[in-house]
Amino acid sequence: MRRSARPRTWALLLLLAACRPPSEAPASPPAEAAPPAAASAEPDPWASPPRLTRGTFDAHLQFLADDAQEGRPPGTDADRRVQDHVEAAMIEIGLNPAFGEAYRQPLTVTDGVRTRGDAKTELLLGKTPIAHTLVPFGHDTGDAPVRGELVYVGHGIAGEGSDGDYAGLGDALRGKIAVILAGAPNDPHLSPASTRPQSRVIAARDRGAIAALIVDLELEKPYPNHGAHSDLQIPVLAVGKSDAGKILAAVGGKGGKPPKIGARSRKSVEIATPIEPISLATANIGGVLRGSGAEPKRLVIGAHMDHLGHGTASSLAPGVSAIHNGADDNASGVATILALAEALAKIPASARPYDVVFFAFAAEEMGLLGSKHLVEAMPQAEREAILTMLNFDMVGRLRDNTVIVSGTGTSSRWPELLEQSRGGLTVKASDDGYGASDQTSFYEAGIPVLHYFSGPHDDYHRPSDDIERINGEGAIAIGDAALNLVSIVMRERPALDYIKVERKTSQRGGFRVSLGTIPDYAAQLDGVKLSGVRPGGPAEAAGLKAGDVIVVLAGREIHNLDDYMATFAMLKPDVEIDVVVLRGEERVSLKMTPSAPARR
Ligand SMILES: [Zn+2]
Repeated sequence: MRRSARPRTWALLLLLAACRPPSEAPASPPAEAAPPAAASAEPDPWASPPRLTRGTFDAHLQFLADDAQEGRPPGTDADRRVQDHVEAAMIEIGLNPAFGEAYRQPLTVTDGVRTRGDAKTELLLGKTPIAHTLVPFGHDTGDAPVRGELVYVGHGIAGEGSDGDYAGLGDALRGKIAVILAGAPNDPHLSPASTRPQSRVIAARDRGAIAALIVDLELEKPYPNHGAHSDLQIPVLAVGKSDAGKILAAVGGKGGKPPKIGARSRKSVEIATPIEPISLATANIGGVLRGSGAEPKRLVIGAHMDHLGHGTASSLAPGVSAIHNGADDNASGVATILALAEALAKIPASARPYDVVFFAFAAEEMGLLGSKHLVEAMPQAEREAILTMLNFDMVGRLRDNTVIVSGTGTSSRWPELLEQSRGGLTVKASDDGYGASDQTSFYEAGIPVLHYFSGPHDDYHRPSDDIERINGEGAIAIGDAALNLVSIVMRERPALDYIKVERKTSQRGGFRVSLGTIPDYAAQLDGVKLSGVRPGGPAEAAGLKAGDVIVVLAGREIHNLDDYMATFAMLKPDVEIDVVVLRGEERVSLKMTPSAPARR
């Protein structure tokens, strides 16, 4: 397939040539890095920096958000087509490879589970096979199926600090298979930490269940088999609407209606899940626009290129298997940085004291996996040589000429530089450097960052995030404002200090406590690794550090993020808990007092 991309690459080159308005001379490769220009009457090229080209933006958007790219899921042929496309564009602009001789930095991510070899999963109610689907959290039974009677536990939510749906069940679940109803009661007091399916399975496991079935009366696929695998130590399968009735009937449900909590089956059920995680090969793409070499530091400009394919656990259209085109998220960002690179390359290298590195990140939707890998793989000196990182994620839906820029608190120079560079835009500033996109990976490494964002909308993470809803002029305006900012940095060479923004997690998100830990979603190990702690938070006060691996929290063993979230749901503000971390070879015991989340 990939090879076939070659003809496509030529097609792209032709297309780009076609898009450019005729008057403009064909883009000459950026001028060689000339020695620092002697004071001359040369007009200052930054006085009126080139603007982004709408045609270039549209061409990339069109390609990236087309159904042909199938929603750009990592590790697929579509992903490789996108990588080819971005690499070809960088070559055409005249960027140099960012990874030694290569434009690509390969990485492997895990996404869902599959059966091992030619083994099969099995779900038998008595002798009746029950249709089921895999979920990415559950134990590998190898070739030892688990057998037991069913016990219905409702939604299976353990309240915070109470037994919730398990109240009054006593030992009824010990050695049994828990039947958990998918969906969640509409109770604003319940935090996502306790309602997520993984936490419910853990709650059943903690009460003696030997396996769990997640049963959904509405969806055929109760939970998408996507995301990193986590072993919750008991086998788990999902049963969709076609066979949900059979399971509920087995525990005494009538007419497809669920029975009372605690109802048991007479028949026993056999579950076999000989599973293994699916590893996918993907890659970050990077190109360098060399400058005059006058400044040792470099600017990073980035955007993630992946999206949700036909729908993953983070789709907001659960159960809908359809192409999530991700026109705004984040074809718009990739198209903007490529148009930005093209415009910057028109400025003679002699006038660009800094190199500018353009990165298209992989697997952002899976937990910033590409950018985290990129930053962690960098030698420390290379990280320290990054002056700043500008991230473009969802810049295609500008409204009211207002762009949201987060990270404005990560350097004291940002407010004035943003004011000087905003052009006709209004900037809605948010100071936090930690956010739900790739700038976080750089901020954690001590680099001041900005994230340009045109704002939330109803098509976010839905199949309806399509090209026709993109505000191309708006994206260009955001790109031009960022180009203004780059031009000021290039001319004035400001020292961009790094500020650790003090911030507690807000009440929003429904969590009952705040710990101030920043889990490393990319780490594949036993426990939860911290990529940082928030300044002024309980974790910092308790002495936790970046790099620590939490293995015990409030007396509970922590093997993965799901264990961590389930325990998080049980904590109370101002009630001290014990924490055990692995720090290098050492096992360190600490005391931490969770705080209530800050009210906003
Ligand atoms: Zn995104």
